Order: sequence, then structure tokens, then C-alpha cells
Amino acid sequence: MEWETLYARRMGRVEPSPIMALIRVLSQRPVINFASGLPDPAGFPVKALQEAAAEILAEDWRAGLQYGEAEGYRPLREWVAADLTARDVPTKAEQVLIVSGSQQGIDLVARAFLQSGDVVLTEEPSYLAALQVFASYEATARPVATDADGLDPDAAAAALKQSRVKLLYSMPNHQNPAGTTLATNRRVAVLRAAAAAGVPVLADEAYLHLRYDAGEPAPLAAADPEAPVLTVGTFSKTISPGLRVAWIAGPAPVIARLALLKQVTDLHANSFTQRMVHRYVAAGHLPAQVAHLRAAYREKRDAFLRALERQLTGRATWTRPAGGMFLLLRLPSGQSATGLLSKALDQGVAYVPGAAFFPAGGGEGTMRLNFVSPPLTDIDEGVARLARAIG
Ligand code: PMP
Repeated sequence: MEWETLYARRMGRVEPSPIMALIRVLSQRPVINFASGLPDPAGFPVKALQEAAAEILAEDWRAGLQYGEAEGYRPLREWVAADLTARDVPTKAEQVLIVSGSQQGIDLVARAFLQSGDVVLTEEPSYLAALQVFASYEATARPVATDADGLDPDAAAAALKQSRVKLLYSMPNHQNPAGTTLATNRRVAVLRAAAAAGVPVLADEAYLHLRYDAGEPAPLAAADPEAPVLTVGTFSKTISPGLRVAWIAGPAPVIARLALLKQVTDLHANSFTQRMVHRYVAAGHLPAQVAHLRAAYREKRDAFLRALERQLTGRATWTRPAGGMFLLLRLPSGQSATGLLSKALDQGVAYVPGAAFFPAGGGEGTMRLNFVSPPLTDIDEGVARLARAIG
């Protein structure tokens, strides 16, 4: 059978990503690994999850091991709605769909709103796996000018008026890969421009909780609760990514339609892990867990930034994230991060070249550095190795 001739046309846009493959390979090398996309497993709340799982198997196994509703486990939807409401995004349970990872949330939104040839506006750089979703629906990601304060609202307003623009995808808080946050004073302008253009905003709040600087970060939707925002959030970065429990929130009619898509995809999110997450959050564990992660990750971020300052001032520039897992380092002009990688591996340190995160090309001189997954004690040495590779 000539399978290659049988695929739907859009499968031409679903290709193995060399960067994803590289991240996997690098993770297996005996090097100090700044290339990982993973949170630190030391942060997983194993004991509380063990208790939650045991309780469900003892008390609630009939429902926990059974099929569930496409929209998700009602008490968890209610908890997410209450949490958003407390963050100044007034939300009812009907406005929340539980999904199997926020990656699936991005996919469902893309499937619902994008057709071949449509344009999605993004930050520059942006999240690689979201760019892959948009490509899989034959949409084009078009970057909007982005600086240390996130999207430029004037550039976004101009881009939103262009034809075929169907979605604005933004990570407003501590984004992947640069770690930047959309400044508070830009948020209303971006949302107003989207509303005026009739273009929905997909706000990916995956890193909302992972804040190390002062101040409690707000979801983008809180800047204007009337704005056309679909928010995706996840328990992957606060509890565990392996549970695959996340959510989309937005207007109730949109959520009802997305629930239909969710149903045709996989019927519903995992009954068991939804209940585990619900027991965990309902028991009130999340604030202490988030505080714990913030303290541990803050220490690593600070160590990383200090090491960069000591070793690379004048030889490279980098973002200074207020939160999240990543920062973006820029080499002096002319140097390629892809070209430098084998030298870095020889020195015993790995990173991800940044070019794949730039939807319109460019970014050859950038690299993504994960500052949360390496052990604290490896950070100085890893940065020293990087500095030696840069030369
Ligand atoms: N959005 C962003 C910005 C991410 O970095 C990730 C994970 N790397 C996701 C979404 C997907 O996370 P999950 O599917 O585990 O919720």
C-alpha cells in the first residue's frame, strides 16, 4: 500500500519536528540539560496524589472508573469557575470545559475557528507546539512585534485589521520560550483591538501561577471581562503534566460547541485523574504547592540570572522572566545557536536553538534555556560551559 499517497492534504503540514526530536535526544545525553521542556519532578506532590487516588478507589470508584460527561467532572468545572471568578474573570461552571491537557484546548479552539489559509497572530517568539497545531489546520502563524513587555498593542491593532486573521494566540504571563509577560498597561488595548476587529483571543495561561517576582499575576481576561477571550489553563505546571487535566473557559455557547468537538475527539477527559485533581484542589493543597514551586523555581531563576551576568555580560543578551520556566538568550549578531550546539554539547551543556519558535523565520541567534528542570547545583557549571562554548 502506498500510504503516503492516501493522506489528507493537511497531513502535509503534520511533520516530525526536528526540534522536538532534538529535545528528546538531548535529554538522553549525559550533559547539563537546559534543553528540557519539563517541570522539575521534585515538585510533584506525590503523597497527596497517592491519598487522592486511594480515596477515589475506596469511595468513588464507580464513577472514577466509569465514562463521564464530555464537558468534564462537574465539581472540577465548578472549582475552575470559582477560581477564575476570584481572579476577576467572572465565570460559571457552564463556561468551563475540562480537556486532556491545554494542548488539546489549543487544538479544539483551532479546529473550531480555523480554515485552510486563515491567519493566527502570535507573539514572536511563540510556543512551538501551538504553532504546530495551527499548521496542522493549514493556517499561517503571523508574528506581531513583541518586546520585553509582550505584544506591542499598536502592532497588534494593525495586524488584527488584516484579512483572514481569525485568532490572536497569546501567552500573557511568563511565556514559552522567552518568559516575557504582557504588561498590565497594554492588556486593555490589545483586548479592545481584538474586540473591534471581531477576532477572538486565545489566552494560554499555562504559566500563570509560576510567578517569582512580586505581585500576583492576573489572567489576561481579567483586564476586560467583556472581551472575546478564550482562556486555556492547566494543572500540568502546578500539579503534574502526566495527569493530563486542563481546561478552557469562555462564553457558554462557545464552550458547548467545543464540548461537542471534545466528545468526537475522545469522549471526555480522564474520569480518574479529573477526580484526583479535584480532590487535591478541594482539599486546599494548591496554594501551598504553588508557594513551594515558586520558592524552588525562584531560587533557580535567580541563580541562573546571576550566573549569566557573571559569565556572559557583554557577550550575549537575555530576557529576565518574572516567572515561568524559560528564558531566551540572544548571541551577538552573526552567531547561530544551531551552529553552536555541537560545541556546547562537547562542553557538556544542552539548549534548544530558538529559530523554531519564530513563526516567520529569524531567531537564529537565539536559544531557549530551561532554568527550572536542572538541579540548582548544576546551574553555575552549566552556564560556565555555555560561556566556554560561546567563547
Ligand atoms: N501551553 C504552553 C505555553 C506550554 O508550554 C505547554 C506545555 N509545554 C502547554 C500549553 C501544554 O501543556 P498541557 O497540555 O500539559 O496542559
